[in-house]
Amino acid sequence: MTAPEPVYLDYAATTPVDPAVAEAMSRCLTEPDGLGNASSATHLFGRRVAERIERARAEVAALIGAAPEEIVFTSGATESDNLAVLGAARANAQRGRHIVSSRIEHKAVLDPLKRLEKEGFAITLLAPDRSGRIDPQAVAAALRPDTVLVSIMLVNNETGVIQDIAAVGALCRARGVLFHSDAAQAVGKIPLDVHALPLDFMSITAHKLYGPKGVGALYVRDEARGYLQPIVFGGGQERALRPGTLPTHQIIGLGVASDLSRRGLAREHARLCGLRERLWQGIAKLGAVHLNGEGAHCVPGILNVSFEGVEGESLVTGVSELAVSTGSACNSASAEPSYVLRALGRDTQLAQSSLRLSFGRFTLPEHIDLAVDAIRREVTRLRVLSPASEPPGAPDEAAESPVAGTPAAATWVVGEAGGPGQEVWVRLRLSVQDGRVKSALFKAYGCPHTLAVVAWVTERLRGRGRAGLAPGTPEQWAEALTVPVEKLGRLLVVEDALADCARHWPEPR
Ligand SMILES: *Cc1c(COP(=O)(O)O)cnc(C)c1O
Repeated sequence: MTAPEPVYLDYAATTPVDPAVAEAMSRCLTEPDGLGNASSATHLFGRRVAERIERARAEVAALIGAAPEEIVFTSGATESDNLAVLGAARANAQRGRHIVSSRIEHKAVLDPLKRLEKEGFAITLLAPDRSGRIDPQAVAAALRPDTVLVSIMLVNNETGVIQDIAAVGALCRARGVLFHSDAAQAVGKIPLDVHALPLDFMSITAHKLYGPKGVGALYVRDEARGYLQPIVFGGGQERALRPGTLPTHQIIGLGVASDLSRRGLAREHARLCGLRERLWQGIAKLGAVHLNGEGAHCVPGILNVSFEGVEGESLVTGVSELAVSTGSACNSASAEPSYVLRALGRDTQLAQSSLRLSFGRFTLPEHIDLAVDAIRREVTRLRVLSPASEPPGAPDEAAESPVAGTPAAATWVVGEAGGPGQEVWVRLRLSVQDGRVKSALFKAYGCPHTLAVVAWVTERLRGRGRAGLAPGTPEQWAEALTVPVEKLGRLLVVEDALADCARHWPEPR
């Protein structure tokens, strides 16, 4: 017996491949008309493949209102972002070395910007307002005479907030500054007409669009082509902006995916708005729930919520029947909470307790109902464990010494570490008699690793005295419970709670 597959609610990470896309790709890989190199103009196979690639190019262009020759195929949005940011900055370095972007961009934009800093560029990163929007007036204020590029994403991947690209683009156009937008989360989700928007470059990826991973495109406005230089060299394909043999099956997948999305866009948008409302209404009943991006225009397929008094990774682990994502530290190798939610002004605890639910073409109302039930159950359960229901430092009646004066009486010792504003909190309560731990209890919140270690340590406290109270070191606990080394820092809170117990140890009578 295996557990049933979880319900997939992580469409913002990647979407399922549409069966029609998979079929077209599979035919391309197995049938003779998929054979050939699009650059081989001397024979039928090459010409046939080139023609199919041009059809896919036209399908991608139609989805965003571009001309086919404005589409440059890449390996995905990461490469498209790199090409636009590095390529436009370097090509225009003689005109100026200042770039404006935002703190909520995807790493595929932020990391190339860091690279450019090393090359002598100055970068201004704007912060969003509390609803997650970048104010176009802030962009205007940040522009300098030496600004050559502005890069602001169209839809944020964590919150789903739609930026006012038309206003930002108009400012850039008026000042002669190039404008790039990462539209990985927008294309196929909201109507887009690049010719109506003052955009120069726009990044697209197939795998957020029911297409395959590993293929995408950069829209390059015809007039902006001369302001972009390649980041890879050799072969001359894609007008030398992105050389390399074109991956026919991947590109055909992107083409079919674009076509399907364009045809279904209006209907799907309305349907997903209904699902989002159903999900939010269901979750909001819990109370003390915050909608991240509230008050802003959002794509309908992403709902990002923070729960007071709940740690995000415990929640994600608890709702095992759902495949969802959290921006919190335990999830990623970096030890920081969601930088996007922090940028929105959420405090650490709320940023830690966020859940991103994202859904799309294959999500049904019953999936949403199942998600609501699971989240309500887990949040309710975790809030019982949370210090929000028992504030740290609050008077604790059991901590009073019982039956004073009786020599053999046990004394309660309480030790505590972490707490509000931090991702971990641990309270140990030991019953101490004749200088030894008679029994031990704990209360804690934190990621599952922390909780497992607290439980493990608590079980091993019996019979221990003040000196040598800790059963081993955090390194040894991590090893015993196979905690990943980058999470080791969290276990220090358990050690601190033990030290706090030792500080409160009763004087021998
Ligand atoms: C997914 C995503 C990317 C990266 O796209 P890949 O095709 O996986 O490289 C970049 N930007 C945003 C906003 C995304 O959501």
